[in-house]
Amino acid sequence: VTGAAGSDLRFELIVSDAIPLALADRLPNGAARTWAPLTSTLLVSVTDAVLIDPPLTTPQADAVEQRIRLLGKHLTWIIITHAHGDHWFTASRIADRLGATGVAATPSVIEAMPRTNASRELFWDRILPGQIPASPITATKPPVAGINIEGHRIELVEVGHSDTDDTTVVHVPDLDLVVAGDVVYDEAHLFLVESAGGGRDAWRAALDRISALDPAHLVAGHATRTDSASPRRLIEQTHRYLDDVDELLPLHDTPAGFFTAMLQRHPSRANPSTLWGSATALYAASRN
Ligand SMILES: [Zn+2]
Repeated sequence: VTGAAGSDLRFELIVSDAIPLALADRLPNGAARTWAPLTSTLLVSVTDAVLIDPPLTTPQADAVEQRIRLLGKHLTWIIITHAHGDHWFTASRIADRLGATGVAATPSVIEAMPRTNASRELFWDRILPGQIPASPITATKPPVAGINIEGHRIELVEVGHSDTDDTTVVHVPDLDLVVAGDVVYDEAHLFLVESAGGGRDAWRAALDRISALDPAHLVAGHATRTDSASPRRLIEQTHRYLDDVDELLPLHDTPAGFFTAMLQRHPSRANPSTLWGSATALYAASRN
């Protein structure tokens, strides 16, 4: 947990660690399948708190809930940056238990949520059986007046496709902060399953949108640490990973070859399981 000082507004990050998946297959390097570590952000003011990107599982959600209770703040809004379940399945649970004002996302994100829920039975509840709470779609688009925390504006900025379609970053001007969702990864393998057919170019454009906001603090959606103070490093390393994918994909005929080559370039990144899932999907699609 880290914080950044504002006069009456600050933020802190909660990283939910990688967790094992109920999958018997192994990575080409012998490792077991795991879900990536992920980041939730709390904006904390005098009496209120806002949660950006609630986590995936019930134990992860309970840790976030406990932190908000410990702070003694009233949770007003929960904001969701994109429709992937690992960033919103616990929103309803946390909102109910803490009496939140509401759950907010852009109309495009809300529109995609039923598809995410439809994939629970065959995907999510199979890889994490019994660990994900009920996920009714309670998100609404932000009120016309916008969202703020005790007078500090919170902007939802649509940046298009990154690791999925229609992603959002959250800009808090008074903190000079951008919470990037999955547009930015910090020392974790990128989710490339939806990156074929021009997706990586769109992703680079989304990174450019964040650069244009020129934040002093940038939060990555998947990270093992809570370093938000290096926006340039985070943007560059995400960009470089995408460039490496484009360079190495044509050089390898098999997902295992691509996986091994990427791992050699990025040996210290968290959750190679994400890379293996990406590799198998990209080669199955053949249009990588
Ligand atoms: Zn994610």
